[in-house]
Amino acid sequence: MATVAFIGLGNMGLPMAGNLSKAGHQVTGFDLSEAARKAAEAASLPMARALSEAVAKADVIVTMLPAGAHVISVWTEIAVEAKSSALLIDCSTIDVENARKAHKIAEDAGLQSLDAPVSGGTGGASAGSLTFMVGGTDIAFERGLNLLEAMGKKIVHCGNAGAGQAAKICNNMILGISMIGVCEAFALGEKLGLSHQALFDVASTSSGQCWSLTTYCPVPGPVPTSPANKDYVPGFAAALMLKDLKLAQEAALAAGAATPLGAEAAQIYGLFDKLGHGGRDFSAIIEFLRGKA
Ligand code: NAD
Repeated sequence: MATVAFIGLGNMGLPMAGNLSKAGHQVTGFDLSEAARKAAEAASLPMARALSEAVAKADVIVTMLPAGAHVISVWTEIAVEAKSSALLIDCSTIDVENARKAHKIAEDAGLQSLDAPVSGGTGGASAGSLTFMVGGTDIAFERGLNLLEAMGKKIVHCGNAGAGQAAKICNNMILGISMIGVCEAFALGEKLGLSHQALFDVASTSSGQCWSLTTYCPVPGPVPTSPANKDYVPGFAAALMLKDLKLAQEAALAAGAATPLGAEAAQIYGLFDKLGHGGRDFSAIIEFLRGKA
Protein backbone atom coordinates (compact mmCIF):
# COMPACT_ATOMS: atom_id res chain seq x y z
CA MET A 1 0.00 0.00 0.00
CA ALA A 2 1.20 3.50 -0.83
CA THR A 3 1.77 6.66 1.16
CA VAL A 4 -0.38 9.23 -0.65
CA ALA A 5 -0.64 13.02 -0.48
CA PHE A 6 -4.00 14.32 -1.73
CA ILE A 7 -4.06 18.04 -2.59
CA GLY A 8 -7.45 19.71 -3.14
CA LEU A 9 -10.21 18.24 -0.98
CA GLY A 10 -13.29 19.88 -2.50
CA ASN A 11 -16.49 18.28 -3.76
CA MET A 12 -14.57 15.66 -5.73
CA GLY A 13 -11.24 15.40 -3.91
CA LEU A 14 -12.55 14.58 -0.43
CA PRO A 15 -14.61 11.50 -1.41
CA MET A 16 -11.81 10.33 -3.74
CA ALA A 17 -9.26 10.61 -0.93
CA GLY A 18 -11.71 8.74 1.32
CA ASN A 19 -11.81 5.82 -1.12
CA LEU A 20 -8.00 5.66 -1.17
CA SER A 21 -8.01 5.45 2.65
CA LYS A 22 -10.69 2.74 2.56
CA ALA A 23 -8.52 0.74 0.15
CA GLY A 24 -5.75 0.76 2.76
CA HIS A 25 -3.49 3.54 1.45
CA GLN A 26 -1.99 5.94 3.98
CA VAL A 27 -3.46 9.27 2.89
CA THR A 28 -2.55 12.78 4.08
CA GLY A 29 -4.61 15.66 2.72
CA PHE A 30 -3.98 19.35 2.15
CA ASP A 31 -6.29 22.17 1.09
CA LEU A 32 -6.01 25.96 1.31
CA SER A 33 -9.63 26.46 2.27
CA GLU A 34 -10.72 26.41 5.90
CA ALA A 35 -14.10 24.89 4.98
CA ALA A 36 -12.47 22.04 3.04
CA ARG A 37 -10.06 21.36 5.91
CA LYS A 38 -12.96 21.17 8.39
CA ALA A 39 -14.89 18.80 6.11
CA ALA A 40 -11.79 16.60 5.79
CA GLU A 41 -11.31 16.51 9.55
CA ALA A 42 -14.99 15.62 10.00
CA ALA A 43 -14.40 12.73 7.56
CA SER A 44 -11.39 11.63 9.68
CA LEU A 45 -8.88 12.29 6.89
CA PRO A 46 -5.44 13.16 8.35
CA MET A 47 -4.47 16.67 7.26
CA ALA A 48 -1.12 18.42 6.82
CA ARG A 49 -0.60 22.07 7.79
CA ALA A 50 1.39 22.84 4.64
CA LEU A 51 1.77 21.42 1.14
CA SER A 52 5.43 20.61 1.83
CA GLU A 53 4.46 18.57 4.90
CA ALA A 54 1.83 16.60 2.92
CA VAL A 55 4.12 15.66 0.04
CA ALA A 56 7.47 15.14 1.78
CA LYS A 57 7.08 11.40 2.40
CA ALA A 58 4.53 10.55 -0.30
CA ASP A 59 5.05 7.79 -2.89
CA VAL A 60 2.14 9.19 -4.90
CA ILE A 61 0.82 12.77 -4.97
CA VAL A 62 -2.71 13.35 -6.31
CA THR A 63 -4.03 16.83 -7.16
CA MET A 64 -7.74 17.68 -7.65
CA LEU A 65 -7.84 21.44 -8.22
CA PRO A 66 -10.11 23.96 -9.95
CA ALA A 67 -8.08 24.92 -13.05
CA GLY A 68 -4.76 24.85 -14.93
CA ALA A 69 -3.15 27.78 -13.10
CA HIS A 70 -3.69 26.05 -9.72
CA VAL A 71 -2.14 22.83 -11.01
CA ILE A 72 0.94 24.58 -12.42
CA SER A 73 1.50 26.50 -9.20
CA VAL A 74 1.04 23.43 -6.95
CA TRP A 75 3.12 21.10 -9.17
CA THR A 76 5.93 23.69 -9.26
CA GLU A 77 6.12 23.50 -5.47
CA ILE A 78 5.71 19.71 -5.42
CA ALA A 79 8.62 19.34 -7.86
CA VAL A 80 10.87 20.89 -5.22
CA GLU A 81 9.41 19.17 -2.14
CA ALA A 82 8.62 15.60 -3.32
CA LYS A 83 10.77 12.48 -2.97
CA SER A 84 12.71 11.75 -6.17
CA SER A 85 10.74 8.50 -6.63
CA ALA A 86 7.29 10.09 -6.31
CA LEU A 87 4.56 9.69 -8.93
CA LEU A 88 2.40 12.78 -9.59
CA ILE A 89 -1.21 12.35 -10.74
CA ASP A 90 -3.43 15.30 -11.64
CA CYS A 91 -7.14 14.44 -11.71
CA SER A 92 -8.43 18.02 -12.25
CA THR A 93 -10.05 19.00 -15.55
CA ILE A 94 -7.65 21.51 -17.14
CA ASP A 95 -6.54 22.67 -20.59
CA VAL A 96 -4.30 20.38 -22.63
CA GLU A 97 -1.52 22.98 -22.84
CA ASN A 98 -1.23 23.35 -19.05
CA ALA A 99 -1.49 19.57 -18.63
CA ARG A 100 1.55 19.15 -20.89
CA LYS A 101 3.33 21.97 -19.02
CA ALA A 102 2.67 20.16 -15.72
CA HIS A 103 4.17 16.93 -17.12
CA LYS A 104 7.24 18.93 -18.18
CA ILE A 105 7.64 20.38 -14.67
CA ALA A 106 7.60 16.82 -13.30
CA GLU A 107 9.94 15.50 -15.98
CA ASP A 108 12.47 18.31 -15.37
CA ALA A 109 12.50 17.30 -11.69
CA GLY A 110 12.99 13.63 -12.61
CA LEU A 111 9.47 12.66 -11.47
CA GLN A 112 6.95 10.43 -13.23
CA SER A 113 3.52 11.89 -13.92
CA LEU A 114 0.00 11.28 -15.23
CA ASP A 115 -2.90 13.51 -16.24
CA ALA A 116 -6.00 11.59 -15.18
CA PRO A 117 -9.21 13.65 -15.37
CA VAL A 118 -12.45 11.96 -14.42
CA SER A 119 -16.02 11.59 -15.48
CA GLY A 120 -18.81 10.51 -13.13
CA GLY A 121 -19.30 13.58 -10.91
CA THR A 122 -19.56 13.70 -7.14
CA GLY A 123 -21.77 10.59 -7.09
CA GLY A 124 -19.08 8.60 -8.89
CA ALA A 125 -16.39 10.09 -6.63
CA SER A 126 -18.24 8.87 -3.52
CA ALA A 127 -19.13 5.47 -4.96
CA GLY A 128 -15.60 4.89 -6.30
CA SER A 129 -17.07 4.37 -9.77
CA LEU A 130 -15.36 7.19 -11.69
CA THR A 131 -14.01 6.79 -15.22
CA PHE A 132 -10.38 7.93 -15.48
CA MET A 133 -8.95 9.15 -18.80
CA VAL A 134 -5.20 8.90 -18.46
CA GLY A 135 -2.24 10.46 -20.25
CA GLY A 136 1.41 9.61 -19.59
CA THR A 137 4.04 6.96 -20.22
CA ASP A 138 3.32 3.22 -19.96
CA ILE A 139 5.59 3.01 -16.92
CA ALA A 140 3.79 5.82 -15.07
CA PHE A 141 0.42 4.31 -16.01
CA GLU A 142 1.39 0.88 -14.63
CA ARG A 143 2.53 2.53 -11.40
CA GLY A 144 -0.68 4.56 -10.98
CA LEU A 145 -3.21 1.94 -12.05
CA ASN A 146 -3.75 0.29 -8.66
CA LEU A 147 -4.41 3.66 -7.03
CA LEU A 148 -6.80 4.81 -9.76
CA GLU A 149 -8.68 1.51 -9.45
CA ALA A 150 -9.37 2.33 -5.79
CA MET A 151 -11.23 5.46 -6.94
CA GLY A 152 -12.77 4.36 -10.23
CA LYS A 153 -14.40 1.57 -12.18
CA LYS A 154 -13.03 2.21 -15.65
CA ILE A 155 -9.45 3.35 -16.30
CA VAL A 156 -8.47 4.13 -19.90
CA HIS A 157 -4.87 4.84 -20.92
CA CYS A 158 -5.48 7.34 -23.75
CA GLY A 159 -1.87 8.04 -24.76
CA ASN A 160 1.05 10.24 -23.77
CA ALA A 161 1.18 13.53 -21.79
CA GLY A 162 -2.10 15.46 -22.08
CA ALA A 163 -4.05 12.66 -23.80
CA GLY A 164 -6.33 12.20 -20.76
CA GLN A 165 -7.36 15.87 -20.85
CA ALA A 166 -7.82 15.69 -24.62
CA ALA A 167 -10.20 12.72 -24.26
CA LYS A 168 -12.10 14.44 -21.45
CA ILE A 169 -12.83 17.65 -23.38
CA CYS A 170 -13.72 15.76 -26.57
CA ASN A 171 -16.20 13.62 -24.61
CA ASN A 172 -17.72 16.62 -22.85
CA MET A 173 -18.02 18.54 -26.11
CA ILE A 174 -20.13 15.63 -27.44
CA LEU A 175 -22.18 15.76 -24.23
CA GLY A 176 -22.83 19.54 -24.39
CA ILE A 177 -23.84 19.39 -28.05
CA SER A 178 -26.02 16.29 -27.63
CA MET A 179 -27.83 17.72 -24.60
CA ILE A 180 -28.74 20.85 -26.55
CA GLY A 181 -29.94 18.64 -29.43
CA VAL A 182 -32.15 16.55 -27.14
CA CYS A 183 -33.54 19.71 -25.49
CA GLU A 184 -34.33 21.28 -28.87
CA ALA A 185 -36.21 18.11 -29.87
CA PHE A 186 -38.33 18.15 -26.67
CA ALA A 187 -39.02 21.90 -27.04
CA LEU A 188 -40.09 21.35 -30.67
CA GLY A 189 -42.19 18.29 -29.70
CA GLU A 190 -44.02 20.39 -27.11
CA LYS A 191 -44.94 22.99 -29.77
CA LEU A 192 -46.14 20.17 -32.04
CA GLY A 193 -48.37 18.70 -29.31
CA LEU A 194 -46.21 15.60 -28.73
CA SER A 195 -46.10 14.19 -25.19
CA HIS A 196 -42.68 13.86 -23.54
CA GLN A 197 -43.25 10.14 -23.02
CA ALA A 198 -44.15 9.53 -26.67
CA LEU A 199 -41.04 11.32 -27.93
CA PHE A 200 -38.90 9.48 -25.38
CA ASP A 201 -40.35 6.06 -26.29
CA VAL A 202 -39.63 6.65 -29.98
CA ALA A 203 -36.24 8.43 -29.80
CA SER A 204 -34.80 6.16 -27.09
CA THR A 205 -35.26 3.14 -29.36
CA SER A 206 -34.50 4.94 -32.64
CA SER A 207 -31.54 6.69 -34.22
CA GLY A 208 -31.88 9.73 -31.90
CA GLN A 209 -30.84 7.57 -28.93
CA CYS A 210 -28.00 8.98 -26.77
CA TRP A 211 -26.90 9.30 -23.11
CA SER A 212 -28.40 12.81 -22.77
CA LEU A 213 -31.79 11.27 -23.63
CA THR A 214 -31.79 7.83 -22.02
CA THR A 215 -29.82 8.46 -18.79
CA TYR A 216 -30.16 12.19 -18.28
CA CYS A 217 -33.50 13.05 -19.91
CA PRO A 218 -33.98 16.86 -19.63
CA VAL A 219 -37.76 16.69 -18.99
CA PRO A 220 -39.37 15.15 -15.90
CA GLY A 221 -41.05 11.75 -16.21
CA PRO A 222 -39.40 9.39 -18.67
CA VAL A 223 -36.18 8.84 -16.63
CA PRO A 224 -37.18 9.29 -12.94
CA THR A 225 -33.56 9.63 -11.73
CA SER A 226 -32.62 12.55 -14.02
CA PRO A 227 -32.13 16.06 -12.50
CA ALA A 228 -35.21 17.33 -14.42
CA ASN A 229 -37.27 15.48 -11.80
CA LYS A 230 -35.62 17.49 -8.99
CA ASP A 231 -35.96 21.01 -10.40
CA TYR A 232 -32.55 20.67 -12.08
CA VAL A 233 -30.47 20.45 -8.91
CA PRO A 234 -27.07 19.20 -10.21
CA GLY A 235 -25.86 16.59 -11.15
CA PHE A 236 -23.41 18.31 -13.38
CA ALA A 237 -23.68 22.09 -13.10
CA ALA A 238 -24.07 24.25 -16.22
CA ALA A 239 -21.02 26.29 -15.11
CA LEU A 240 -18.85 23.15 -15.21
CA MET A 241 -20.19 22.26 -18.66
CA LEU A 242 -19.31 25.80 -19.78
CA LYS A 243 -15.79 25.39 -18.36
CA ASP A 244 -15.26 22.18 -20.36
CA LEU A 245 -16.73 23.63 -23.57
CA LYS A 246 -14.38 26.62 -23.27
CA LEU A 247 -11.42 24.25 -22.79
CA ALA A 248 -12.51 22.39 -25.94
CA GLN A 249 -12.65 25.67 -27.88
CA GLU A 250 -9.17 26.70 -26.67
CA ALA A 251 -7.82 23.32 -27.74
CA ALA A 252 -9.61 23.47 -31.11
CA LEU A 253 -8.17 26.91 -31.83
CA ALA A 254 -4.66 25.85 -30.86
CA ALA A 255 -4.86 22.64 -32.90
CA GLY A 256 -6.66 24.17 -35.91
CA ALA A 257 -9.70 21.86 -35.63
CA ALA A 258 -13.13 22.93 -36.90
CA THR A 259 -15.68 22.58 -34.08
CA PRO A 260 -18.57 24.88 -35.08
CA LEU A 261 -21.20 23.03 -33.03
CA GLY A 262 -18.86 23.00 -30.02
CA ALA A 263 -18.48 26.78 -30.41
CA GLU A 264 -22.25 27.22 -30.60
CA ALA A 265 -22.75 25.03 -27.51
CA ALA A 266 -20.16 27.12 -25.61
CA GLN A 267 -22.03 30.30 -26.54
CA ILE A 268 -25.42 28.90 -25.49
CA TYR A 269 -24.09 27.72 -22.10
CA GLY A 270 -22.22 31.05 -21.74
CA LEU A 271 -25.48 32.99 -22.11
CA PHE A 272 -27.27 30.61 -19.72
CA ASP A 273 -24.52 31.16 -17.16
CA LYS A 274 -24.66 34.97 -17.63
CA LEU A 275 -28.38 34.83 -16.87
CA GLY A 276 -27.50 33.40 -13.45
CA HIS A 277 -28.16 29.69 -14.08
CA GLY A 278 -24.59 28.36 -13.77
CA GLY A 279 -25.44 26.53 -10.55
CA ARG A 280 -28.31 24.56 -12.09
CA ASP A 281 -27.88 21.21 -13.78
CA PHE A 282 -26.71 21.52 -17.40
CA SER A 283 -29.91 19.81 -18.65
CA ALA A 284 -31.85 22.92 -17.50
CA ILE A 285 -30.66 24.46 -20.79
CA ILE A 286 -34.08 23.31 -22.09
CA GLU A 287 -35.62 26.28 -20.23
CA PHE A 288 -33.32 28.66 -22.12
CA LEU A 289 -34.37 27.05 -25.42
CA ARG A 290 -38.04 27.44 -24.45
CA GLY A 291 -37.31 31.13 -23.82
CA LYS A 292 -38.08 30.74 -20.12
CA ALA A 293 -34.65 31.09 -18.47
P1 NAD B 1 -13.90 22.32 -5.68
O1 NAD B 1 -13.82 23.75 -5.96
O2 NAD B 1 -15.02 21.78 -4.83
O3 NAD B 1 -12.51 21.79 -5.04
C1 NAD B 1 -11.25 22.30 -5.38
C2 NAD B 1 -10.45 22.41 -4.09
O4 NAD B 1 -9.11 22.80 -4.41
C3 NAD B 1 -11.00 23.49 -3.14
O5 NAD B 1 -11.29 22.91 -1.88
C4 NAD B 1 -9.87 24.52 -3.05
O6 NAD B 1 -9.75 25.13 -1.79
C5 NAD B 1 -8.66 23.65 -3.36
N1 NAD B 1 -7.49 24.41 -3.78
C6 NAD B 1 -7.40 25.40 -4.70
N2 NAD B 1 -6.13 25.82 -4.83
C7 NAD B 1 -5.40 25.09 -3.96
C8 NAD B 1 -4.01 25.05 -3.62
N3 NAD B 1 -3.14 25.88 -4.19
N4 NAD B 1 -3.61 24.17 -2.69
C9 NAD B 1 -4.49 23.32 -2.10
N5 NAD B 1 -5.81 23.31 -2.37
C10 NAD B 1 -6.26 24.18 -3.29
O7 NAD B 1 -13.95 21.61 -7.13
P2 NAD B 1 -14.43 20.12 -7.48
O8 NAD B 1 -15.88 20.13 -7.84
O9 NAD B 1 -13.93 19.18 -6.45
O10 NAD B 1 -13.66 19.90 -8.87
C11 NAD B 1 -12.25 19.69 -8.89
C12 NAD B 1 -11.84 19.43 -10.33
O11 NAD B 1 -12.56 18.29 -10.85
C13 NAD B 1 -12.15 20.59 -11.29
O12 NAD B 1 -11.09 20.71 -12.20
C14 NAD B 1 -13.44 20.15 -11.98
O13 NAD B 1 -13.59 20.71 -13.27
C15 NAD B 1 -13.25 18.65 -12.04
N6 NAD B 1 -14.49 17.87 -12.10
C16 NAD B 1 -15.54 18.18 -11.28
C17 NAD B 1 -16.70 17.42 -11.34
C18 NAD B 1 -17.87 17.72 -10.44
O14 NAD B 1 -18.97 17.19 -10.69
N7 NAD B 1 -17.72 18.53 -9.41
C19 NAD B 1 -16.80 16.33 -12.24
C20 NAD B 1 -15.68 16.02 -13.03
C21 NAD B 1 -14.53 16.79 -12.95
